[in-house]
Amino acid sequence: MNRDEIIEADKTYIASTYARANVVLDHGEGATLYDKSGKTYIDCATGIGVNCFGINDPVWKEAVEGQIEKIQHICNLYYSEPQAQLASLLCSRTGAKRVFFANSGAEANECAIKTARKYSYDKYGDGRYEIITLKDSFHGRTMATLTATGQDEFHKYFMPFLEGIKYAAPTMASIRKERTARTCAIMIEVIQGESGVHVLDADFLKSLDRYCKENDILLICDEVQCGNGRTGYLYAYEAFGLHPDIVTTAKALAGGLPLGACMMFDKCQATLTPGDHGTTFGGNPVACAGAVSIISRIDRDLLLEIQGKGAYLAENIKHIKNVLSVSGMGLMIGIETTKPAGKVAAECAEKGLIVLTAHTKVRLLPPFNIRKDEMDEALKILNEVISA
Ligand SMILES: *Cc1c(COP(=O)(O)O)cnc(C)c1O
Repeated sequence: MNRDEIIEADKTYIASTYARANVVLDHGEGATLYDKSGKTYIDCATGIGVNCFGINDPVWKEAVEGQIEKIQHICNLYYSEPQAQLASLLCSRTGAKRVFFANSGAEANECAIKTARKYSYDKYGDGRYEIITLKDSFHGRTMATLTATGQDEFHKYFMPFLEGIKYAAPTMASIRKERTARTCAIMIEVIQGESGVHVLDADFLKSLDRYCKENDILLICDEVQCGNGRTGYLYAYEAFGLHPDIVTTAKALAGGLPLGACMMFDKCQATLTPGDHGTTFGGNPVACAGAVSIISRIDRDLLLEIQGKGAYLAENIKHIKNVLSVSGMGLMIGIETTKPAGKVAAECAEKGLIVLTAHTKVRLLPPFNIRKDEMDEALKILNEVISA
């Protein structure tokens, strides 16, 4: 199919849930993408923070291809090596005690919600089921995670929503106001990605952690976007010294294959028992083999490299004319400019740079192995577009 045929078929046959950019991506190498007509782009989106080692990464490819040659799917009624390897790796790197594998971020969060409610049911009986999430959060598109998403614009049409979810502002006063005797968990993103790359206040996070411990309320960190090295920490909560009871992740976990994980720490390690939860595809061996190749490479050196690259980009972006502020951590960057974010993204694509938006901001989620010359090219295009 040529470019126009692809767009025509897409517009005719695919549910129009996405306002797609006018680009037909075809293949790539590292942080460089090629469209159908051979035009090149620097990739500062990585498929929304997914292709964390870029395109065609040889280590990831070998891991994935090696597993495809063995077996492509094993249902969860049998043991398999890639899941066992990945779960051991995640637990040894984080201190988590158990992992449930899902296919996506939303599903990892569904598992977190179920685990929190069962933990509380087992200990306190019926009725202690409320979960507090934060205003401007994003937790997914399933009914439960959509309910958990604290943004009104997502709460249209689909009523009724799940019972027992409340929203607080990211302050202890607001948390205390929403908390009742029924509260079993508080779910947060330490860096709110979709709503504009907001890094939550460190003192608030520390106080929240303590408050949760004092009241036996489970702290759930949604690290679907900010996890897996993105911020220069394996998981972003580490940067704030938090001790979550549940951590969910997905996006970059398997380097480009669908995989989610719900990691359960000490308190709720024995909460889920046979029959409580399950999935056909979750923990697919090809995805898990890919994830082992990703997580095992996120070491101290790489994390420092991510911090350095993030600082280099942020520092140079700050000085661009019409930039009002730069937020984020590591290679998760939000840019507030005087121009509408959508317009910046469209003009960047035109000039050969793929960026994302996050609410009113421009968002960059480049691959960890982006080269200096690629960063400089990205900065040049950002400068041209934003300062114009
Ligand atoms: C993307 C995202 C999700 C949803 O993940 P899906 O894989 O799209 O279901 C949940 N939480 C956060 C913080 C995200 O960024």
